[in-house]
Amino acid sequence: MIPFMKSHHLCCLLACFGCFIANSDSLHAQLPTGWKQHDWDRPRPAKVDVGPESPAAQPPSDAIVLFDGTNLDQWRSGDKGPAKWIVKDGAMEPTPHGGYLYSAQSFGDCQLHLEWASPEKIVGTSQGRGNSGVFLQGLFEVQILDSFDNETYADGQSGAIYGQYPPLVNASRKPGAWQSYDIVFRRPHYSDSGQLTQPARITVLHNGVLIQDHVEPVGPTSWIQFHKYAPTPEKLPLTLQDHGNPVRFRNIWIRELPPTTISPPQSPYDPVVVELTKDQIDRIVGTYKRNGGGTWEISFKDGKLWFHTIAKPLEMIPHSEREFGLKYTAGSINLEYDQENRPAKISFTMGGTTSQGTRER
Ligand code: MG
Repeated sequence: MIPFMKSHHLCCLLACFGCFIANSDSLHAQLPTGWKQHDWDRPRPAKVDVGPESPAAQPPSDAIVLFDGTNLDQWRSGDKGPAKWIVKDGAMEPTPHGGYLYSAQSFGDCQLHLEWASPEKIVGTSQGRGNSGVFLQGLFEVQILDSFDNETYADGQSGAIYGQYPPLVNASRKPGAWQSYDIVFRRPHYSDSGQLTQPARITVLHNGVLIQDHVEPVGPTSWIQFHKYAPTPEKLPLTLQDHGNPVRFRNIWIRELPPTTISPPQSPYDPVVVELTKDQIDRIVGTYKRNGGGTWEISFKDGKLWFHTIAKPLEMIPHSEREFGLKYTAGSINLEYDQENRPAKISFTMGGTTSQGTRER
């Protein structure tokens, strides 16, 4: 359920009901996951014993600390005013009608760590027990629920991408125990004309156990309805859900991630490729004695020059008869010629190390 829908459950239900009457095709509609939301028959994830709770994890030095147990300075309420949750004993939790919490700073691609504990005293059943959630970009909910011993639908369990993907396993600890989520989030991408070019991607570890493996949400989280992707700003506030249950949070930190599609600069090992003549190739092919021991071979096969060192032969990319790059690795081979225009010396550079050798005749 996305934040603004909480007070509109009934409206959504009625609207959805009307939609089904109006269009019989919808009776057989499924989400792109292949399942309808909240199918009670969808297999539940197997339980995994993750052991007792751990002390709060230390944030890495480049993390933005969103909650260190002392204040709510990094959070706002839905009206952009001060957060209405309380801080108690190093943890924060919703107050009655406190509403959703929004991070003051907006985020896109990120690594998020948060720790949470469902109420020790069990109250309610199914989705009414220890329900909260963290919404990435305020759009994609990783469900928080007391799922330790709580029968509910598979795609609503703790660690579910709510309504879409159940967790791979149920890695829940007992109510009251601290649990951790480590989440890697990649935002969706859109073309200039607003077409989705890459869906969001979410990976989640629950108490150190992988429960979501780079899954692609089929759209922003919705409740009962299906919301398709639609362009949004690249960065949006992180949201914590107030579902009316006193779920506690501590130790929340986030690291902004660089985009996955970084174009590498032009490599100095990739200048113009030239075609060598047969004579040039014949002069280059042969054995080279490596200074300090061992030999290198240069061969010609399948129309390509190959450099034989300790590993499998490396394809040489000729930039001239003196300078060569390697096809897959940042490295170079350079030849020096004698007065008779025959290769006499060789140097091989890779990984910051250069080795020298001489032609064996
Ligand atoms: Mg929730």
